[in-house]
Amino acid sequence: MAAPKFRLQFDPAHGQAVDVLPGIQRVTAPNESAFTFRGTNTYILGKDEVAVIDPGPADANHLEHLKRVLDGRKLTHIFVTHTHADHSPLAMPLKEHTGATIYAEGPHRDSRALHLGEVNSLDAAGDREFQPDVRLKHGDIVEGKDWKLETILTPGHAANHACFALLDRDLIFSGDHVMGWSTSIVAPPDGSMADYMSSLDLMTQRTESLYLPGHGGRLEKAREFVRALRAHRKMRETAILSRIRAGDRTIPEVVSVIYRDTDPRLHGAAGLSVFAHLEELVQKGLVHCEGAPGLGSVYEPADRQ
Ligand SMILES: [Zn+2]
Repeated sequence: MAAPKFRLQFDPAHGQAVDVLPGIQRVTAPNESAFTFRGTNTYILGKDEVAVIDPGPADANHLEHLKRVLDGRKLTHIFVTHTHADHSPLAMPLKEHTGATIYAEGPHRDSRALHLGEVNSLDAAGDREFQPDVRLKHGDIVEGKDWKLETILTPGHAANHACFALLDRDLIFSGDHVMGWSTSIVAPPDGSMADYMSSLDLMTQRTESLYLPGHGGRLEKAREFVRALRAHRKMRETAILSRIRAGDRTIPEVVSVIYRDTDPRLHGAAGLSVFAHLEELVQKGLVHCEGAPGLGSVYEPADRQ
């Protein structure tokens, strides 16, 4: 299985309404960073009566751009893929401006309870103010004037992550679950690797071949890409397990070998990803540690117990 081919060609055209496909426009917020690529994509679905998917970060300029692009059209629905601060905060101001209804899986929450003394290193990324008007369940179909969206619950990157399939159009709004420019951050306790892997499996069972992600450009041949992502994570899991079997005991030790070629400034994020895999390996009974697994735990192969 080939490694996923990441696609870094993307013109965000910040603040402009870009026609992505008939009846679908994108406005990219100006919140570029190492974690958000060229900014968060807000999608506008429909013609005269429209839905917005992921209104975006609390950025006054982005709000103004959206109001301008929506001017003369009726916003009826606001969908949120997940409650990270780069996706959901503008839901409320847009609702106040238009009277649209907010749809999402639910309010922000961690993927699991915090262990004693544990802090969620991604806490600041969570939008704890967010409240949907309508809570979506897996398989729910919401219909607007020119479109029908099916909810696909995909926890992993965030506990309340949802993707939305545009029915009869062979495409999925994939949020931060599957993106073409990079792998998704999966960091416990905000996210969960076991959930993320199950949510990737869910995508392999679907037939849609085009994804419109929360960051970066459209992802064609999405099914092959998802299979490559899955294989890539499995390979990483195997590499981490073999480092523990070879004698590494801490997350920094594993990171220093597996991420040898990665910019050291990204080692903190890499450590969170290794932690996510180790937590899953402990759940599977392949790795052992005293008490609940944490960033500072000492890990050993379970078979030596
Ligand atoms: Zn994001």
